[in-house]
Amino acid sequence: MNVDLHSHSIASDGLLAPAEVAARAQAGGVEVWALTDHDETGGLAEAAAAATALGMRFVPGVEISVTWRADHNHQGTTIHVVGLNIDPANEALAAGLAGIRAGRDRRAERMAFSLEVAGVRGALEGARRHAINPALLSRTHFARYLVEAGKVKSTHQAFNHYLTEGKPGYVQHAWASLEDAMGWIHGAGGVAVVAHPGRYKLSTPQLNRFFDEFKALGGDAIEVMTGSHTSDQYNHFAEACRCFGFRASRGSDYHGPGESRVDPGTLPPLPPDLTPVWHDW
Ligand code: AMP
Ligand code: MN
Ligand code: MN
Ligand code: MN
Repeated sequence: MNVDLHSHSIASDGLLAPAEVAARAQAGGVEVWALTDHDETGGLAEAAAAATALGMRFVPGVEISVTWRADHNHQGTTIHVVGLNIDPANEALAAGLAGIRAGRDRRAERMAFSLEVAGVRGALEGARRHAINPALLSRTHFARYLVEAGKVKSTHQAFNHYLTEGKPGYVQHAWASLEDAMGWIHGAGGVAVVAHPGRYKLSTPQLNRFFDEFKALGGDAIEVMTGSHTSDQYNHFAEACRCFGFRASRGSDYHGPGESRVDPGTLPPLPPDLTPVWHDW
């Protein structure tokens, strides 16, 4: 079965409307599909209707931004936790996500100030123009503005030169705690999945400590097949599933044409000995 449980629409930092992402997923052969916008569930109703009309099974999802500290000396790293099969009407989840989105607005103001100091003018207004959902301002929208303003040639360059740690437009930000994010997901009837575990700035011992904590909080699965992993990382995180007793997930992390390494439905299948996160659905 072709299952793709990670993608983005214009409700967060994707380029396509939810129904258009659904059509791309179906074109890629996807049979079970999840929309997982950053800290936002506003695209799910349109996505569900489109998926059903296209004959796909739809899984309502969200990708929650979390800050996790490996120890008291660690300044904290951003980790993304995907919630799948959530009820978006759940009040605690909705309130938690609204709080994260409000934090994004405050972060955006600080980012724009830092960029101004570095000689980039009008970044807040510029990023807002690219954010189709005004409630969800992402670094990706700043990246698209930096391209538009002629500061860089691609969004990839915008991240490398301006928007990642140590660069002028990067500011520290405290997202949700791991405990809160997992409480919201489980309270809304969902399962919690670590997004693209190979992408974090953590040593292997730190990442293993994270997996222990995630497991102790009732964490269900980790992404093994994701557009963010190399084939070495497919093997590494398949092994992590076996060691920690996690189920495995598969998701392209599709953001739109020209902004993603892989199209929905095109990643290799999960190793057959792993239990997929969708096993009991
Ligand atoms: P934010 O949650 O607003 O900090 O933005 C994070 C998003 O930026 C991710 O979900 C990716 O879509 C995008 N992103 C992060 N790092 C990069 C990168 N190096 N190149 C391109 N896009 C990136
Ligand atoms: Mn994104
Ligand atoms: Mn992510
Ligand atoms: Mn994502």
